[in-house]
This record gives sequence, structure tokens and C-alpha cells, in this order.
Amino acid sequence: MKFTPLIGLEVHVELETKSKMFCSCPADHFGKEPNTQTCPVCLGLPGALPVPNQKAIESCMKIGLALNCHVNSQSKFDRKQYFYPDLAKGYQISQYDEPFCSNGHITLDSGKKIGVERVHMEEDTGKLQHVVLDGKKVSLVDYNRSGVPLVEIVSRPDMSSSAEAKEYLKKIHDIVRAISVSSADMEKGQMRLEPTVNVCLESEQGLRYTPLAEVKNINSFNYAVQAIDYEVSRQIKEFESTGQEKTETNKTTRGYDSVKKITFLQRTKEEAKDYRYFPEPDIPPFIIENELIEKLQREIPELPEQIISNLIKLGIEPKYAKIIYANPESLEVVKRYQEDTEVDIAKLASLIANKKINISGDVKKEYQKLNKTGNTNVEELRVVIEKIVNDNPKLVADYKAGKTNLSGFFVGQAIKETKGKADPKTLNKLVVEFLRK
Ligand SMILES: [Zn+2]
Repeated sequence: MKFTPLIGLEVHVELETKSKMFCSCPADHFGKEPNTQTCPVCLGLPGALPVPNQKAIESCMKIGLALNCHVNSQSKFDRKQYFYPDLAKGYQISQYDEPFCSNGHITLDSGKKIGVERVHMEEDTGKLQHVVLDGKKVSLVDYNRSGVPLVEIVSRPDMSSSAEAKEYLKKIHDIVRAISVSSADMEKGQMRLEPTVNVCLESEQGLRYTPLAEVKNINSFNYAVQAIDYEVSRQIKEFESTGQEKTETNKTTRGYDSVKKITFLQRTKEEAKDYRYFPEPDIPPFIIENELIEKLQREIPELPEQIISNLIKLGIEPKYAKIIYANPESLEVVKRYQEDTEVDIAKLASLIANKKINISGDVKKEYQKLNKTGNTNVEELRVVIEKIVNDNPKLVADYKAGKTNLSGFFVGQAIKETKGKADPKTLNKLVVEFLRK
């Protein structure tokens, strides 16, 4: 039986704005004294009115544009109703059928395109802390995070391995950082990952699909990889024993245990109708003007993919181009020397990528030391040596008669001629080649 995993990803990115999504409380909640950054709006007290944060909406649209999405000319917020202790209002303001952006894609290094179904805006919830106080297990709620702008990026189930999922996630991470809308620090929970996995099984009975499982709130690329791999093998095993196929209603929600490296059942998945979405009555719908989209498009800097492809165009090997890109200081050094005719930029990049050069030191000096042939290429050296050989016919004859140590004389002349820039080993090889002709 042949099987193909089908993997989709929901990625939540916390935006770095000054204030929260619908009120003026500070959005920077990390490490703050619990419940010191709240107000009637983000606590959902009766009568409080939300005012949307323009900067956050623009950041959401920028993410969409950077992911090749269409920014929709009409959009609105909706209420997603559910009760949870970290959601004081009893509903979350999100977007249902008219997200700000839709229909984008990310291209993997293999050339495969992963569809981005939608990029929408919502608000984060509070945080629960499960602790022991006076010998009793209790849950504490901190609402500082409640109402922080959150962008959700939903992919299509186009990935067929955990490796593809990891590459997709890394690209999203690089892009949101490159356009400066979020630091996407996974340890601080600024980027949270939710893979949805099932498996397509191909046999004589045709194509059959295992039930969908969504794994919630993963905070590292490697955990996402482990959770996906675990799910794929678990689902195949379960299918072999139960034969249960995907239906409209049997999607489940699972958690991930990073210690045991397993996923576990949390609940059977709510469907959209369980959330009783309806348009947010306190926020009028949006008409998005083309001028705004064009302005945002102009504000997007060169994206990681473009920068890496430009490095590759300079002759740098793709694997080194990625290493150089990953470190802003390395990238800065490569940009500084890319026009320098005395520097072979591909060689410099490989030396930097392999940590042979201290990039905060005198880069050019170190480069020249490590790369003695400097700018003198082998063809130029041949011309130099040929001239020396032609100028000294008697010594050439003596060499051929058996005085092989005379090669040292020719190498010495060539070193002089090239002002010490050429590598003696290369010269020696070329000299012997010429003398033996
Ligand atoms: Zn507030």
C-alpha cells in the first residue's frame, strides 16, 4: 500500500505593535507583572467598544503581500464564540469569510509551491498558569496578552513530508522578520504552529483518507517535525486496525508532548458552526483602497528569497548563500566586497560560511592570507611562467638533462613577477608542467 501524508499548517504570529488590537493597552506583554496591562475593552466589560489598530491591519496585509496573497478590497471582523477561562469576553474577534488576504503561496527550494489559503487578523487570548499554591493545584489567569494583535496564516494541505513543513515554516519565520512586523521569537510564543495531518492511502480499493488531526500550539520547528512524523505513523497504524476513513465530522484536536514525543487526543474538533460566527457589530466593515495596497507593497523590503537568489547569482553556492543570509553581519560583509575586483566573492562566501574568517576582524587581509593566489588566476600564471621559460632556454635544457632542482629558480622568478600574490604550490605545479613539455 502506497501512502502520502497531507500536511497543512496554521501559523499564528504575534505582531509587534505599540498598542493592542482594539484598545490602547501596551501590546508588549512578555515578562510583565500579571494583569497590569488591561482595560475594559480587552477584558470585554459591558459597554466597552473596540477600535481597530490601523498599524496592525497594515502589518497583516504586508504579511499577505509578502506571501503573494491577494489583498481583498472588502473585509470585516467577526465574533468567534466560545468559552474559555483565558478569554474573558466569551468570544474572540477574528475574521471568518472575508479575511484581509487570500490565495497566496510560498515556493520551496525544490520549486514546489505551497498554497497559502488566507492571512487574517485576530486578537490573542490571555494566558493560563497552572501552579501549586498552599499545597493546592490552581490555575491563574493573566490577561496582559488578551487582545494582542495576532495574524493567522493558513496554508493548504500541500506539504507531503515533515521536511517540507519545516522548510515552509522557516520561510514564513524569515519573511515576517524581514518585513519587521514581528520578531517571531518562538520561545516567547510570538510564533505558534498548528499542523493538520492526514494520510492518503493508495491501494487496489482506490484512494482512501485517514481522519484529520490538528495538533495545537507547538512552539518549535523540531517539535512540529516530530509531531507530524508521529501523527503519520499513528494514523497509518490506526487505519490498518480500524479501517476508519475521514468524514465531515471526525476531525480531532490533539496536543503534543515534547518529552514523550507523542501526540495525544484533546477533543473532537469543533466545526465552524459550533463557533456561531457572526459579523462583529461594533466594528464597521472595511473597504480597502488600491492606494493603500500600493503603499504597503512599496514598504516591503527585499525578501529573503530574493536576497538569497541574488547571492547565488554572484556565484555563491546555494548552501553558503543561505548561511550568509542567516547572519546579518555576514551578509553585510559579502555586500561590502561584492564589487571588489580583488575578491572572489564565491570564495569569500565559502570562507565565511565555513567560519575560516573572523568577520569582525580585517576581512580582506584574512581573505588574502587564506587565498594566496589572490586575483591572479591560473591562466595569467601560465602566461607569466611561459615567458620565464622562453627567456631561459639554457636552463630549460639543463633541467631536461637531469638538473631537476632548477625548477626552484623558475618558481622564484614567477613569485617575483607576481609580487608574492600567487600560491607557491600552484606555481610549482605549473612550472614543472612547462619544463616537461
Ligand atoms: Zn486594553
